[in-house]
Amino acid sequence: MTRPLVICDCDEVLLHFVGPFGDYLTAEHDLSLHLDTFALSGNIRRADGTSIEPTGFMPLLNGFFDTHMVTQTPAPGAATALAALAERCDIVILTNVDDRHSPVRTAELARHGMPYRVVCNNGPKGAPVKALMDEYGASAGAFIDDLPPHHTSVKRVAPSVYRLHMVADPRLHALIPAAPDADARIDDWFTALPALQAALGVTP
Ligand SMILES: [Mg+2]
Repeated sequence: MTRPLVICDCDEVLLHFVGPFGDYLTAEHDLSLHLDTFALSGNIRRADGTSIEPTGFMPLLNGFFDTHMVTQTPAPGAATALAALAERCDIVILTNVDDRHSPVRTAELARHGMPYRVVCNNGPKGAPVKALMDEYGASAGAFIDDLPPHHTSVKRVAPSVYRLHMVADPRLHALIPAAPDADARIDDWFTALPALQAALGVTP
């Protein structure tokens, strides 16, 4: 009998992102990250208050992942919740970073008590979620991510997968409204665990 499959994002779900990314921008580039809206690229400013150009965003993001992934800290309760789920489910981390970042991401998650398979992706997550569900022949699935468009994509391509919208950093809670295409919005792992167990039919 196949097991349920949990497909979970990394940045701002399992590991904090905006805090370490902002620290990196300040320390390495003399820039600051302002959390006025959830549009990261427009909120990166120079000391004179001007925003960086949109083309400057991806090099900064990749620079962070190249050298500063080790500064990312785990969301409270994430490792414990995934460990509880792993007793009855398979776990895959589906993360939108380049393939070259996979070894460090995998090692960092393991270092924080989350020793699971990492799959790197680029773009919408519906198709890779469907592919993973097929690969595992999963009896049921759950998807956890902080970005609403990914929930829309998964709903369209793999509608039977339970979709949990989670935003780990409290400073972002008011900036990211509940994803309309998610089944639930829960921003902490302690509350999310029983909801996921119920949705996947693995209640203890
Ligand atoms: Mg994320």
